[in-house]
Amino acid sequence: MIEAAGVSWRYGAHPVIDGVSVAARPGRMLGLIGPNGSGKTTLLRLLYGALRSATGTVTVDGDRLGGLGSREAARRLAVVVQETGGETALTVGEMVLLGRGPHLGTFQRAGAADHAIAARCLARVGAAHLGTRAFAGLSGGERQRVLIARALAQQATHLLLDEPTNHLDIRYQHEILRLVRGLGTCAIVVLHDLNLAARYCDDLVLLGDGGVVAAGTTDEVLEPKILEPVYGIGVRRLELDGELHLLFHPNEEAT
Ligand code: ADP
Repeated sequence: MIEAAGVSWRYGAHPVIDGVSVAARPGRMLGLIGPNGSGKTTLLRLLYGALRSATGTVTVDGDRLGGLGSREAARRLAVVVQETGGETALTVGEMVLLGRGPHLGTFQRAGAADHAIAARCLARVGAAHLGTRAFAGLSGGERQRVLIARALAQQATHLLLDEPTNHLDIRYQHEILRLVRGLGTCAIVVLHDLNLAARYCDDLVLLGDGGVVAAGTTDEVLEPKILEPVYGIGVRRLELDGELHLLFHPNEEAT
């Protein structure tokens, strides 16, 4: 479980996150949604400790994140962020093997079991055939899948992903989110696409200007009357075959 209580962040004088509290519960997938610039990435960075809030606390399974050593933090939190490793000379296989780092001793090299885990994780994201390729030479979608494989190889108890479906075609958008959901690991995912959030997230936090506009189950948050003022667009909600779908109407007056 990851819990943030009263965390804040400002860039210069501009408060982006202001006294925000969120909780990602065991075995559940929490989506962070909101318009561009609403602070989703900033909040995610606070939740994995890349940014340290001057106020409030972030805890992972009850322990303060700031008090965990980097190795222990990496055993608990695996992070997939945009634009990682573009300059690296590593092969794809080596990149995924980096995920084993937190499980190795200081001078210990990856062994056969680590290689097997890395290969299995690469296969799970449909990228087994890329193992010997240079990571830097991959397309955006291929890189994204490899970075997710690296996070899986880390075998952390929590997974945090910043727009993991960016660059992916529609099939892999669904495959990756289904895979993450199927892990049964506590996951926090920044998502742009509200219909992907509808399908895969258990809980959602909707960010607006500086803070949380709504938080609750996906069903509770994805209400037209909640979304319309935040996004400034007309929203219709449909249930088809037991699945929630949203339709957007740019020409309608938002209420
Ligand atoms: P989102 O992920 O919802 O698009 P971000 O967390 O990336 O939002 O950004 C929130 C706000 O903070 C935006 O107004 C953005 O311009 C600003 N911001 C983000 N990163 C920086 C930075 N490094 N320096 C200054 N402002 C930033």
